[in-house]
Amino acid sequence: MFEDLERKRKKTCRFCEDKSKIIDYKDERLLRRFISDRGKIIPRRITGNCAGHQREMTIAIKRARHIALLPFTTEIFR
Ligand SMILES: [Zn+2]
Repeated sequence: MFEDLERKRKKTCRFCEDKSKIIDYKDERLLRRFISDRGKIIPRRITGNCAGHQREMTIAIKRARHIALLPFTTEIFR
């Protein structure tokens, strides 16, 4: 019950779990799952990524922003 949910949420980095999943900066749909609706990168404790993959994700998101695949933080946008 609760345990199951906890275990899933806790510390299971989906990229470590599934080696076929790779972080690709061109994969906009994947990256969008790791940014908030305001374009901010969602912190690791929420995404459950491990430190290494979160780092890769951050780099990928930054790269995607650079080529305008993803928006920069849109705080002005209310
Ligand atoms: Zn990982």
